[in-house]
Amino acid sequence: MLKIENLHFRYARRGPKVLDGVNLQLNDGEIGILLGKNGSGKTTLFKTILGILKPEDGSLSFDGEDLLKMNRRDRARRIAYVPQSIHFGALSVFDTVLLGRVAYFGYKAGKEDEETVWRILRDMKLEDYAARNVEQLSGGERQKIAIARALAQEPRLLVFDEPTGNLDIANEQLIIEEARRVAREKGIGILTSLHDLNQALDLGDRFFFMRDGQIRHTGGAETVTESVIHETFDAEVRIVEIEGKKVILNGGHYQ
Ligand code: ADP
Repeated sequence: MLKIENLHFRYARRGPKVLDGVNLQLNDGEIGILLGKNGSGKTTLFKTILGILKPEDGSLSFDGEDLLKMNRRDRARRIAYVPQSIHFGALSVFDTVLLGRVAYFGYKAGKEDEETVWRILRDMKLEDYAARNVEQLSGGERQKIAIARALAQEPRLLVFDEPTGNLDIANEQLIIEEARRVAREKGIGILTSLHDLNQALDLGDRFFFMRDGQIRHTGGAETVTESVIHETFDAEVRIVEIEGKKVILNGGHYQ
């Protein structure tokens, strides 16, 4: 679905390479998780995928089509962004989600658009929220609305930049569950960054370990090892297995 080859980017002409030959591939309906220290280039990579930043070299394609040559509307049909915090303004939930269509497709909303929004709200059990003011919702609820708004674009891939960054644990779980459901039930791919490595292991199909603008390791859960984590974050962890699941503990090797 998404294929990135040898992507290079820098913010200033003579500045440092923030993306230094990134390669990444994600298949249909897969959940891919980008892991890396602060400043390793995750947000910059997301922005190039979304067309906000233009790479100086390399290619980005979606089902073989060049994303760099695609117009905004065609791109929006493929890739939607779920921002970490959004300031919707004093709009109803329904209008906010509907804006996901209008903002990207640039026409007056018709009956079909409204039906799409109702379908998404029903599907996410947000029907009862339709008339509520988004500003009066909790952080987790607002994040859910942000997902609904991105889904209104009917994309094939959702890009989240640290979706759980501002949330408490219950809301974090809610968003992780929602992301999983979107991928599993609708076959929509997800590309996200997460700080919590256990959350990442729990959610991800494929992991991309990023350092200094490069993806140094890629693979399934088997790629998540103590040494790869050390290489990526300079952090000591210990990985144990509990009930058949890998669990990452802080603090390195216990004697
Ligand atoms: P991450 O999301 O992994 O924390 P970023 O992509 O935000 O990393 O940042 C990568 C590098 O690019 C950092 O060194 C950061 O300081 C730099 N950077 C980010 N945004 C800008 C910008 N607008 N102008 C110049 N440098 C930037």
